[in-house]
Amino acid sequence: MTQNISEPTTGEYEAINFDGLEHGDKAQCYPLRQHIIASERRNLPATLTIEQWCTTVNYFRGKCAYCQVRDFEVLEHFIPHRHGGGTTADNCVPACRICNGLKSSHLPSDIPRSSRYRQIRWSILRVQEYLTTCGSEATAAS
Ligand SMILES: [Zn+2]
Repeated sequence: MTQNISEPTTGEYEAINFDGLEHGDKAQCYPLRQHIIASERRNLPATLTIEQWCTTVNYFRGKCAYCQVRDFEVLEHFIPHRHGGGTTADNCVPACRICNGLKSSHLPSDIPRSSRYRQIRWSILRVQEYLTTCGSEATAAS
């Protein structure tokens, strides 16, 4: 395998074909390991388990946590790696590639004001609420 894991915010390196999979199965076979390795390389926390990830994906019904319309395609770090966010239950949500690309390495508090970011800005509080409640419970339960 020669996958590039140096830029985890691009969402471009997960080359798994999810077509036809239910979101539960999609979460189950998601290449979580890539994110764990990328976080460990940066000395960031990397404790997210596949069970915690499935719980989060199911919570968002297999949809993108930001637009809530498109199916999830990638794991999104709420606090980006470059700002110290790890691969943990309280920092990871499912996202579509479009929202993942838009949010990119922006901090939740630093989403641009322009209209193309409107949907993400609207979703930030809801996502944050989930991560501070369900996300941290998942962490505590592990
Ligand atoms: Zn989306």
